[in-house]
Formats: sequence, C-alpha cells, structure tokens
Amino acid sequence: MFIQESYPLKHLNTFGMDVTARYYAGITSRGDLPDIFNDPDFRAKPHLVLGGGSNLLFRDDYNGTVLHMGLRGKKVVAEDQKNVFLEVAAGEPWDELVAFCVDNGWGGLENLSLIPGQAGSSPIQNIGAYGVELRDHFYSLEAWCKESGRIRTFNRSACRFAYRNSFFKQEGKNKYIILSVTFNLDKNPVIRTDYGGLQKELESMGCSSPDIADVRAAVCRIRESKLPDPEITGNAGSFFKNPVVPEHTYRRLKEAHPGIVAFPENSGMKLAAGWLIDQAGWKGYRAGDAGVHSKQALVLINHGNATGTDILNLAGRIRDSVKERFGVMLEPEVNIV
Ligand SMILES: Cc1cc2nc3c(=O)[nH]c(=O)nc-3n(C[C@H](O)[C@H](O)[C@H](O)COP(=O)(O)OP(=O)(O)OC[C@H]3O[C@@H](n4cnc5c(N)ncnc54)[C@H](O)[C@@H]3O)c2cc1C
Repeated sequence: MFIQESYPLKHLNTFGMDVTARYYAGITSRGDLPDIFNDPDFRAKPHLVLGGGSNLLFRDDYNGTVLHMGLRGKKVVAEDQKNVFLEVAAGEPWDELVAFCVDNGWGGLENLSLIPGQAGSSPIQNIGAYGVELRDHFYSLEAWCKESGRIRTFNRSACRFAYRNSFFKQEGKNKYIILSVTFNLDKNPVIRTDYGGLQKELESMGCSSPDIADVRAAVCRIRESKLPDPEITGNAGSFFKNPVVPEHTYRRLKEAHPGIVAFPENSGMKLAAGWLIDQAGWKGYRAGDAGVHSKQALVLINHGNATGTDILNLAGRIRDSVKERFGVMLEPEVNIV
C-alpha cells in the first residue's frame, strides 16, 4: 500500500475545507488493513477512516493518517421469492447503489436517493430520509476490529440502530472499520410516500400509482430544489440532529409556539431543528464565508473560504440562541474532526 504525505483533502470533504492530511492511504483490498495496522509507526499516530467526507467537518489539517475507503463491489448473496440479499463493499457510492437497486426493481432504498457518501458509512448514523431509515432494509455488516485484527459480522440487533445513531457512534466508535453491508431488498416493493411532501411531488409529476423509479425521481427533485449541491456550495447536509423531547416538553412548546413542527419518535417527539433555527432568525444568515442555507436552516454552508472554526463558531451561536428561545439543546449530527 502506498502512503502519501501532505495530501490535500479539499475535494474529499463536502464542506470543501481546504485542509491536508499529514499521511494518506487508499484502502483498496481487505488485506491492506492488517498490513497498515501492524506497522508500529502507523499505530503511534492518530488515524481517520474517510468515506465520502459528507458527514464530517475538519477543524484544521489532519495530523495523522487518513485511510480512504476504496473497497468496491456488489453481489447478490441470497434470494427467495420475496427478497434479494445484496452484499455491498464499503466504498461503493451510496447513490449509485440506490440507482442500481431501482434499475433492478428491488425496493427499499429509493426514499434514500441522492444522499451523498458511501455504503459503508450508511449504518454508522443509520441514514434516513422521507420516512425511511437504513435499518429498515439492513440485514448485516462485516467489520474489521482494529484491536483483534478479526472480521466480525453484526446483525441488525447488534448494530443497535436508533435515530441517527448506532453502536458504531457509541461503544463501537472508532473500534471497527466497516468492510461491507448486506441489504434486504423487496422484490415486490412497498411504496412509501407519506412524508415530507413526497406525495405532492408525485402528484405534480402526474404519477397516480408510482413505482420505485418514480419515488426515486420525486425524492431527487425535492432534494435538488431544497438542498445545496456540495459540488457548488460546501456543506454536510443537516448540521444538527432533530432533537427528541419527551411528550410533556412538546406539549409545553406547542402551547407557546403553535406552529412548531414535530414527528412522533419512539421515545417522545422529534422536533424539526430546521424550524427552530429558522424561528430563531438564522435562515440565510452569513458571517464571512460561514452561513446558513437560505432554503433550509438546518444546513450550514461554506460560501468559499470558511474554516472549520468559522463554521463551529456559527454553529455555537445558533445552538445558544435556540436554547435561549426554546429551552432545547441542539446536538451536531456532523462528526467534528
Ligand atoms: C447535501 C447532503 C445531504 C445529506 N442528506 C442526508 C440525509 O438525508 N440523511 C442522512 O442521514 N444523512 C444525510 N447527509 C449526511 C451524509 O451524507 C451521511 O451521513 C453519509 O452516510 C456519510 O457518508 P460518508 O461516506 O460521506 O461518511 P464520512 O463523512 O466520510 O464519514 C462519517 C463518519 O463515519 C466514519 N466512517 C466512514 N466510513 C467508515 C467505514 N467504512 N468504517 C468505519 N467508519 C467509517 C468516519 O470516520 C466518520 O466518523 C447529507 C450530507 C450532505 C452533504
């Protein structure tokens, strides 16, 4: 494996932070991992596994080794009358995977169209959009344990999925490198259109009985109209998680702010963080090159030359003002490096 020094990361993170990695190595085979982890020089320095770089914010240059996931490949490992089990290598681009499933008529992932990043990162925060979460079609994953050097298989319950959360963001954080994910897809897809204006978009497209390709097209249209394209404007999607509050807190907030937007979530009510931030007056705000997207207040953006610190300072001001106005604490969804 070839290790490069002073490697530019600007094009490997969707925030477009102009930072470098002290060392950089592309992981293109499973055998690369024991090779590099057995090297005492590597072990003495910090390292970061990088996927598509769409859920992280670099504060500064990375003073360690960036391991860029490049494992590729997809294969059907089992199927029956109803389901297809598709094993996908961690470095496969997520949206190419969704398109591949839709083209084959396998349902399940279409509501998650156009989310940036790689398949291997998708279980980490249990990605979700338009009423569907990754866990709904997850079967298992294989991960390489950094400590033992062994490959372990995790089933759905071992991943402990929750809203934008999993074992890999908690006890398992930084302990495993995900190598592949197996999805359980439907040969007779169930269409889900009851969330976030999807039904309305399908109607405007003239689809009265949509199939999964229509759902994918509608999701792409909505996302393209609402979210900034990271190729043009640096961002990492939702900067904060939607806070989940107990039912009684929600009722109190609803009395004071009748327009509040919320959805039921297992343990209480999930408040739309974008609404809270918008109401606190931040939508479209700009301080230097750090800003808040004008169409979706949950998305912080880099207008060009913002640094990670500029974005974090703005995020801190937003968090404090939402806390002061609503008594609700926002937590970042993005990984700060
Ligand atoms: C425009 C935009 C829209 C978005 N919309 C959504 C959305 O609708 N829903 C949603 O849930 N998210 C959304 N996101 C966030 C992001 O795309 C997802 O979280 C995605 O899964 C991140 O994948 P990635 O490969 O880019 O991960 P990275 O940002 O590269 O990494 C994220 C974390 O995972 C770790 N990691 C990466 N790969 C591995 C691996 N193989 N093994 C172990 N650890 C690993 C990294 O070290 C890091 O801590 C959006 C982002 C953008 C820019």
